[in-house]
Amino acid sequence: MTILSTRTYVKGLAKGKALFLQKGCVHSQEAPQGSPEEEMERLGKAFDRVRNDIGEAAAKAGESLREILSAHLEMLEDPMLHDGIQDKILSGGQSAMQAVKEAGEELQAMFDAIDDEYLRARKDDVRDICGQILSALTEKDGNGYSPIPQGSVLVAEEILPSDAGKIDFSSLGAIVTRLGSITSHAAIIARSYGIPVLMGIPLERINDGDLLLVNALDGTLTVNPDENTEAEFDKLLAKEMARGAEASARAFKTAVTRDGKTIMVYANAGSIGDVRKAMEGGADGIGLFRSEFLFMQDESLPSEEKQFEAYKDAVLICNGKPVTIRTLDIGGDKALPCLGLPREENPFLGFRAIRISLARPEIFKPQVRAILRASAHGPVRILLPMITTLDEIRQARSIISQCMNELDRKNIAYDKAIPVGIMVETPAAVLMADEFSKEADFFSLGTNDLTQYILAADRGNNAISELYDHMNPAVLRAVSITAKAARESGIPVCVCGEMAADEQAVKPLLESGVDSLSVPAPVIAKTKIIISE
Ligand code: PEP
Ligand code: MG
Repeated sequence: MTILSTRTYVKGLAKGKALFLQKGCVHSQEAPQGSPEEEMERLGKAFDRVRNDIGEAAAKAGESLREILSAHLEMLEDPMLHDGIQDKILSGGQSAMQAVKEAGEELQAMFDAIDDEYLRARKDDVRDICGQILSALTEKDGNGYSPIPQGSVLVAEEILPSDAGKIDFSSLGAIVTRLGSITSHAAIIARSYGIPVLMGIPLERINDGDLLLVNALDGTLTVNPDENTEAEFDKLLAKEMARGAEASARAFKTAVTRDGKTIMVYANAGSIGDVRKAMEGGADGIGLFRSEFLFMQDESLPSEEKQFEAYKDAVLICNGKPVTIRTLDIGGDKALPCLGLPREENPFLGFRAIRISLARPEIFKPQVRAILRASAHGPVRILLPMITTLDEIRQARSIISQCMNELDRKNIAYDKAIPVGIMVETPAAVLMADEFSKEADFFSLGTNDLTQYILAADRGNNAISELYDHMNPAVLRAVSITAKAARESGIPVCVCGEMAADEQAVKPLLESGVDSLSVPAPVIAKTKIIISE
């Protein structure tokens, strides 16, 4: 028996057989199989195959993975990568495989040398996409991944976003990796499936088929346990399962605190699939519909009609429960290539979210009209992202009024009393919460961004992840200030950042006076239990 431990984990318990991630693709630096033109043709087919694979994976993916896949597509079409490969084949006489490998390495080295964390991270996209092109060039059948027996514990050095798209997460019991952090892509996706993950585990002492006890409550991995240890773990597992069953039974009941306050537990969604999962999981409504993921699905902007259909579907699925639709929150780490925006030095402090919407009414107005039209089918709320000034709220409200007038002129139905709220996710919004609460119908605390702006700690940078802590007293104080302002103006305040899904944070949030929480679908039931405890 061997016990390994880590401090990096996504919570949960699982017992299963170790299954090392198999990718049956060995990339050799083969000699050209034909003329440079024929090598270019092979390359073109490989690109088509990768494009197709990414498209198929994106169609099935949840919001976080879709975002990653869209970055891969962007990288696949990158002219620097294309030109580099083409030059090596046509002028250098290299095989398509060797050209992809070398051009990829050169581009990775270039990104690595850039003094910009965001751009440096694109190195991983290059590595991943080149791996996919090389795999396609080997023309193997299938995707090179073995089927996963139900309940397996997937063991891997690292799970790259492209792996994640091809792995059937629903058959996994847990994931164990040497590399990665809790903000890594694999962890984000695993969390949305409710799968425990241990990261930072040395893999040398694990073999394929070993029995693994994954304790992602205390960060330990037991390899080939003795009888007593396995029996103890089984008891723990049974207790946790009973807790899960109890939670599911309670998921559809309204959560009430011990002192009798009703707390709505909404869900975060980025797609219609997420809305469905939320309703199946007992959500009291959608607290945050990240509309930008609808925009990121296509290479061009979605029409008003397409948006209307999507918002209406969400409203109908929710069947009378409220749907809070956040207007486009693009920028920061969420790119929308079709907008053709220039690269920025500090994208999180740049041209993003409401700033883009107000500057580009030709994008904002169709979205507002689509949301308004959906409100004729059930309760809808409009949520404005990244507000920093009163003027932004006023300008947005004025555009919303213009859209209402346009619909009135055409006799198109909508909810004339539709609530318009704001994300409180900047220090400015917290400090001005008393003023803003007089002009907003509700607040939604975006603690993901708020934490990074208050603590000056990039939410995507693992090097300072210890500092990026939503339980930092400064963040808790910001929550209290916001909740107090909301209470004094008589408007509701929700928390829709990941903090709301943190078991440790639920009570402090409620003590601050927050009225509702919005969390990923797999944690709705558990969140309702914590509220009631
Ligand atoms: C937040 O910032 O907390 C939030 C919910 O928005 P996003 O994570 O989409 O930036
Ligand atoms: Mg945000």
